[in-house]
Amino acid sequence: MKYAVNRLFSNLDDVHKVGNTTLPMMKYVDEFRQPEKAQALLNEIEKLSLNYPLKIMEVCGGHTHSIFKYGIEEILPQNIELIHGPGCPVCVMPRGRLDDAIYISQQPNVIFTTFGDTMRVPGSTTSLLQAKAIGSDIRMVYSPLDSLKIAKENPNKQVVFFALGFETTAPSTAFTILQAATENIHNFSMFSNHVLVIPALKALLDNPDLQLDGFVGPGHVSMVIGTEPYEFIAQKYGKPIVISGFEPLDILQSIWMLLQQISENRCEVENQYNRLVQPLGNTVALKAMNQVFEVRDNFEWRGLGEIPNSGLKIRPEYAQFDAEVKFILPNRKIADNKACQCGEILKGVLKPWQCKVFGTACTPENPIGTCMVSSEGACAAYYKYGRFSQIGKQNITESSKVTA
Ligand code: SF4
Repeated sequence: MKYAVNRLFSNLDDVHKVGNTTLPMMKYVDEFRQPEKAQALLNEIEKLSLNYPLKIMEVCGGHTHSIFKYGIEEILPQNIELIHGPGCPVCVMPRGRLDDAIYISQQPNVIFTTFGDTMRVPGSTTSLLQAKAIGSDIRMVYSPLDSLKIAKENPNKQVVFFALGFETTAPSTAFTILQAATENIHNFSMFSNHVLVIPALKALLDNPDLQLDGFVGPGHVSMVIGTEPYEFIAQKYGKPIVISGFEPLDILQSIWMLLQQISENRCEVENQYNRLVQPLGNTVALKAMNQVFEVRDNFEWRGLGEIPNSGLKIRPEYAQFDAEVKFILPNRKIADNKACQCGEILKGVLKPWQCKVFGTACTPENPIGTCMVSSEGACAAYYKYGRFSQIGKQNITESSKVTA
């Protein structure tokens, strides 16, 4: 196999190690999208794919997006099913937390700042976009530092940043709070909704409804936390996991590495994305996160319910930058819209086209659930790319027969 994979990349000179396999070092994004290499990898996957159904979960919404964009699901052997996991931070945001964000934005003298993909996420009655339309000062930013800049430019306003995301984005929030503390900025705070991937994976693995054969592990999160935190998946739950990059060849190679483990009865944490992910992660980022955040006892995830130790809150030492301390929030728990099956999508139990309102009442322009909003949401990715594929058309047709 080692030689087969080497042949795939034989026009490249440098070589490095991925697990037990020697692979060339590729530097440019085009090199990860070459069709002939994808075909060669696919041939190797077909040789390894076993005679029984295999369920592989890609945890990260970025992978889900790439899988639909490049039609990877469609070219895999039919016995391999890709299950789309809960790794889209916008999708897992519960309605009550959205309502809290909208509530803050409606307070007098507040400038509320957020990434663009949260603007259309529906709360219980409205969204940030609708709140902006009726007068709240809500501004889209590209980083928390942009928000801090707005605070410095508007010393008479309270500027709040809607901090959300997995360990990928939590370090930038932490560094911004440290910067605000250094500069002694008093009119700046964060509404922290950061979540942690490892407790979510534990919750999925403990769910008896979900029988998985392996994981394509999140690449961006792992750049921060490293590969070691995933060891429990192999050791305690006996499942293989391969940390993966986001290009088509990355994902195909990760699936091939998983199949190799399964066919050899191995359960290990392997790192396909070793051009960026190190075993111990980014120690500088982890240190900043630990300095600023502490783990919440519980945090609610949309569709998954309360997951212990799965959210980050700002430590009391930095309370002056904590919007949950500065504002008295409604903090209500609100059930999802009855038509919405995002919870089942996020748990990987249903596919987007199996939701009764997919593509009809729920579209990216008028989303009912969060999975249709962010580009990393399975429903949005499927709506954009998957529904035009042969499998997609077939699935939607069959699903509409069932629900008719
Ligand atoms: S189609 Fe809409 S309502 Fe249905 S699961 Fe997806 S996002 Fe939720």
